[in-house]
Amino acid sequence: MQVVLIAFALLFCGVKAGNTQKQCSTDCEGNHWSYSGDSSPKCWSICNPKCQGTRQSPINLQIGKAKFMGIFQAPEVSGPLTVKMKASNNGHTVVLAKTSGQSIHISGVGLDGSFIFDQLHFHWGSEASTGSEHTLNGNHWPMEMHVVTHNDKYESIGEAKTAPDGLAVFAYFFQIVKQDNPGLSDLLAVVDSVPNKGDSSDEMSFQLVKFLPPFGGDFFRYKGSLTTPGCFESVTWTLFTGLTVPISENQLNKFRQLMTAGDGGKDAHPMFNNFRPTQALNAREILFGVIGA
Ligand SMILES: [Zn+2]
Repeated sequence: MQVVLIAFALLFCGVKAGNTQKQCSTDCEGNHWSYSGDSSPKCWSICNPKCQGTRQSPINLQIGKAKFMGIFQAPEVSGPLTVKMKASNNGHTVVLAKTSGQSIHISGVGLDGSFIFDQLHFHWGSEASTGSEHTLNGNHWPMEMHVVTHNDKYESIGEAKTAPDGLAVFAYFFQIVKQDNPGLSDLLAVVDSVPNKGDSSDEMSFQLVKFLPPFGGDFFRYKGSLTTPGCFESVTWTLFTGLTVPISENQLNKFRQLMTAGDGGKDAHPMFNNFRPTQALNAREILFGVIGA
């Protein structure tokens, strides 16, 4: 009977992708997901029904369809200058997560409330023409950084991530330049230290501001979701499209050399194209603001 059930499930979980019928794994144990094969984004909703929601992220940004929301001061960042963080390779990306110490609060730019910094991570491509999750008029940037924060009215990110006003994610976009950007050297040393899935660094002291580019220029705002399973629709997105972060191909290659599985793992391959395709906007409004006068 079990065999019959599995065969039945396989028959009905085929997902149309262009003209090819791709099969999705129905094994939800361990909630394995990835960016390709039988656990790719088209398959996520089988084990994570929220990934089929109507307020999903990322989206394609179109300036012509955005509604102007005003001119703002730069976001207010308060708390210690230096934070303790740990880097890790989770097989999907490299994450720098705050480990201990006083909270860093981010507020302003039209956000409702004050948000506490939790972690930052990246999405990038195999080549410069692709990589970011959000697109602008259909075009990708080569890399996108997500700074993940939770609303301070919730005890923790765990509690906040399922609440409609729980999270604020700030997205920064990178642009390829010829020369190395010396401002990225601390970050790249950290990336180098976690080559394989499961690797993590020692706890290190970081000046968070070193990772946050100067705020300025245009930004987009909309209500969306986490871009990975469980796809909870709890994120107020702020996308700083006005100022991009310069990075050389050589520096971006440090990210592309990370591996998706443990040392010697049989499924290991270089980590890139770790972005979810853009999702339907549906009935949502995209807002557009400017920082600075
Ligand atoms: Zn992300």
